Amino acid sequence: MKDIKSMTLAELTEDFLALGEPKFRAGQVFSWLHRGVRSFDEMTNLSKALREKLKGQYELNYPTVARCLRSQKDGTIKYLWRLKDGNCVESVLMQYHHGNTVCISSEVGCPMGCAFCASTLGGLVRRLTPSEMLDQVLFTQIDSGLPISNIVLMGIGEPLDNYDTVLRFLELVNSPEGMNIGMRHISLSTCGVVDKIDRLAQENLQLTLSVSLHAPTDEVRSQLMPINRRYSVDTLLAACKRYFETTGRRISFEYAMIRGVNDTPQTADILIRKLRGIAAHVNLIPLNDVAESPLKPSEPETVRAFQKKLEDSGIPATVRRTLGSDINASCGQLRRNYERENTPGKE
Ligand code: SAH
Repeated sequence: MKDIKSMTLAELTEDFLALGEPKFRAGQVFSWLHRGVRSFDEMTNLSKALREKLKGQYELNYPTVARCLRSQKDGTIKYLWRLKDGNCVESVLMQYHHGNTVCISSEVGCPMGCAFCASTLGGLVRRLTPSEMLDQVLFTQIDSGLPISNIVLMGIGEPLDNYDTVLRFLELVNSPEGMNIGMRHISLSTCGVVDKIDRLAQENLQLTLSVSLHAPTDEVRSQLMPINRRYSVDTLLAACKRYFETTGRRISFEYAMIRGVNDTPQTADILIRKLRGIAAHVNLIPLNDVAESPLKPSEPETVRAFQKKLEDSGIPATVRRTLGSDINASCGQLRRNYERENTPGKE
């Protein structure tokens, strides 16, 4: 059976016409789906007969809350969702001045193998479907009661490793008949899959591309991020330049500050040289401690000095505010802890 919530309005309309239903019915169903109904029986403006017909044609899934943690400090809420097949993924709701932002996952686990990241420790389990990505936005909004205006694809997984699904998700969440979240309110973060960055540039979307750079030299970056052995720093930065030239959208670079690894003044100088000529913004992130990793966060003074060097040379740089630090609100840690506690025999 088809997963109805992964379908666009155009596809649903085509199906409905083939089923002998009028076009406007597809619009009604689409808008119910994008309000987060959990069954066809909640679609009260459809006849009982039509609801039964739909049940025979389509599956309608939704996630359940496996765990929910609320930060006492800043109102950040972290959800661990259980999917239909029992796998779990995380979303984090952050309340910013510019609106409520949800950070969502694109895969169960991650194949990219970055040395500092908890999401990749067990490898890739599977990719999410478009509806599983949409559901994270829908049900975070429903469960929290907070209207969501911004989305970041920075949770578990590599969005560009699940390219077609992510594009379909963007189309769904952007639909005027659905959540209608504008592309300018969406950020997509990648570890730097260059061929996919070029493909994304051609889609010419107005979203913000965030690139996880973390180091300006191949020597350090290849140790931290295996993708760098496929696409070097210079290859990646050239793609970022092309991306800007095609879309006109400035790139946001993420840079996790790791003590003694990528945080020296000399490294800042190399970074400044490499970013010259690229319309960039650098987001410095104090590394989140991951129990399994020997890497440690830089000292706050080191982060500030690094930021100042970038700013002084004309590169806008911000230090990311740490939200939800009391609830482990980062990068696959909740899923990992949960699976360890709930899987007998697993380390
Ligand atoms: N796969 C995508 C998106 C998911 S990770 C990507 O690589 O961009 C979201 C961001 O968190 C990335 O910049 C990632 O490098 C960073 N990150 C992962 N683990 C981290 C940690 N322990 N501390 C700080 N940032 C981390």
